[in-house]
Amino acid sequence: MIFTTRFAPSPTGPLHLGHAYSALLAHDMARAADGRFLLRIDDLDQSRARPHWEDQIYEDLTWLGISWDGPVRRQSAHFQDYETTLAKLRERGLTFECGCSRRDIDAASNAPQEGVPEFGPDGRIYPGTCRDLNLSPNADTCTRLNMAAGCDIGLPAAFSETGPAHAGHHELEKSDLVTTIGDVVLSRRQMAASYHLSVVLDDVATGVTHVIRGADLFEATRIHVVLQHLLDLPTPTYHHHDLIRDDQGKRLAKRDDARAISKYRADGASPNDIREMVGL
Ligand code: GLU
Repeated sequence: MIFTTRFAPSPTGPLHLGHAYSALLAHDMARAADGRFLLRIDDLDQSRARPHWEDQIYEDLTWLGISWDGPVRRQSAHFQDYETTLAKLRERGLTFECGCSRRDIDAASNAPQEGVPEFGPDGRIYPGTCRDLNLSPNADTCTRLNMAAGCDIGLPAAFSETGPAHAGHHELEKSDLVTTIGDVVLSRRQMAASYHLSVVLDDVATGVTHVIRGADLFEATRIHVVLQHLLDLPTPTYHHHDLIRDDQGKRLAKRDDARAISKYRADGASPNDIREMVGL
């Protein structure tokens, strides 16, 4: 199997030093393994994706000396595939429709029990309000995975991690998934799929063997592995790298324009300066 990895930015703002690190690391690892480095444009959220940010991604990566293999995959070209898979999960009774607003969820969760986490990798852990209501899909509902039912069918499951903070073999446990993650959203109003469902399908469709991405997504990996098992798809090896932080130790965000690669470039920095800044 050819080592295949990818960089998957969303075209919703400028790439910053954190993206540069992620892209360069994945690119370097692919080249060192004589493998493939793919570029995917995660433009799932059409309300925020902009063509000029996509153009700037190509420009910034090329300037950094990064070349990608094969055509660029854009999520917006695959909405139908996400919907088809979602329909299959629905037919198998592994999902439910949820009509809760964020405010409903906050209100239903306002008496947290001691020792039970309130937030997981997908935000506030869903209190289960609509799980057994059998609602029909409509413009105001989202579709959630019934995590307990998913675990009953999908487990045992495990994944290998090679990143610095959590290297090793990680077995998934039902009680842990139910209490620390819960019924995650698979498709939102006006969106064909959530990030979790689309990333699983995109990675397998493009033959990704190694997912290299920031440590902020480590906890969400359990969601992806459950979905892979439910859909009978292979699980790649994961490598979650450390995040690049600002001088105050805060992780960089798209709004930190001061750290945008294009800004460094305009100020006369070279691609090697960027490599040095991120420690590569
Ligand atoms: N578009 C996602 C992001 O920018 C990709 C995450 C991933 O690599 O799975 O965070």
